[in-house]
Amino acid sequence: MNLTERDSQCLWHPYTQHKTAAPPVAIARGEGALLWDDQNKEYIDAIASWWVNPFGHSNRCIADAIYKQLTTLEHVLFGGFTHEPAILVAEKLLQILPDNQKKIFFSDNGSTAVEVAIKVALQYFYNLGKKRTTIIAFENAFHGDTFAAMAASGISFYTQAFQGMFIDVVRIPVPVKGEEQASFDALRERIKTNNCAGFIFEPLVQGAAGMVMYEPEALDQLIQICKENNVLTIADEVMTGFGKTGKTFACDYIKEQPDMMCLSKALTGGTIPMAITTFTQELFDGFYSDDINKALFHGHTFTANPTGCAAALASMELLQTQEMQENIARVHRSHLDFQKKIQLHPKVTTTRVLGVIFALEIKTEDHASYYGTLRNKLYDFFIENGVILRPVGNIVYILPPYIITEKQLQKVYQVVEKAIEIA
Ligand SMILES: *Cc1c(COP(=O)(O)O)cnc(C)c1O
Repeated sequence: MNLTERDSQCLWHPYTQHKTAAPPVAIARGEGALLWDDQNKEYIDAIASWWVNPFGHSNRCIADAIYKQLTTLEHVLFGGFTHEPAILVAEKLLQILPDNQKKIFFSDNGSTAVEVAIKVALQYFYNLGKKRTTIIAFENAFHGDTFAAMAASGISFYTQAFQGMFIDVVRIPVPVKGEEQASFDALRERIKTNNCAGFIFEPLVQGAAGMVMYEPEALDQLIQICKENNVLTIADEVMTGFGKTGKTFACDYIKEQPDMMCLSKALTGGTIPMAITTFTQELFDGFYSDDINKALFHGHTFTANPTGCAAALASMELLQTQEMQENIARVHRSHLDFQKKIQLHPKVTTTRVLGVIFALEIKTEDHASYYGTLRNKLYDFFIENGVILRPVGNIVYILPPYIITEKQLQKVYQVVEKAIEIA
């Protein structure tokens, strides 16, 4: 039996209807922006393996840091104990985060980073003796698959089986260009008619919705409205963090600062599962008390895993190198050139670029569903042509590792152009 057949005997994959899905591609190794399957066929990883891998597969520098940490201290419980790798990650992050962020809380994936932020928003008001139990979120948001994160998510594929079992969430439209006012008005109205504790949002780019983008000024306005009403703000930077938008964080584009930030994905350069939620001093102080019941009773066994911390430290150092910053700028320029060319194509309705993120929408007769026929046709075409891209409905997006070579990137564009023809 080959790997794919053995897989089908024993594995259950995420986001997969096994009855109709094509068998998974068995990947044997990776280097830089490239992956090879078990038949040695080469693929360009044009989505950085679900947006986690900015510095390339099997990165030597991160691997060395991990190895060194593994052979020094691989794990120690974080309740009642601490260690230097965690302190170093926190110190380093506080240097690069918006300067109102003062406390770092570890967990192990994007959903838990969000889960922690939502629980802190709710408990903050509970600790104050105030009844604020509703969370505000965008339409078509994606914040993860655990229960509170899922409640905040607005894409029905992920949530429909669980309707009626969620914490209270109210939605507002995304302030895309020309529709900002409706979003501001909805936010004011929701705050007026609900006991809102917090507003969670993907800053500037909604990843899973298909790289839907909106302007920093609109986000500033929404955060201002929340501040006027004492509603906490949560920037879910799980996707946008660590350079994807061209700045270290999407929140670096705005004037306001959120109360909390959620980080994961590129945090460890795509090596070790780890996540962080960051907080203002005021939020931390809301739990600081002689009363043990006011503490945050949330934790995970692998919280602040030292090996993950070592990977995160090495990743942040890589991100800050001039070489990596130049890579980000180069990918961005190439995206702009490709945008200029492809936006005139009669089958392309819109294009969007921010940092290393590129997205285009293909004109379709009818509404293209999230995991529909067109999406599958495009996906299969990309795989056949040795490029890994996962379209969302009729939206094709590119979010490559920053170290992708110019030649590899041009090949991705060419395959995308060809795909538009067959769509
Ligand atoms: C991927 C993602 C999450 C969930 O992260 P997981 O590690 O998959 O749990 C949450 N928020 C955003 C914006 C994401 O892109």
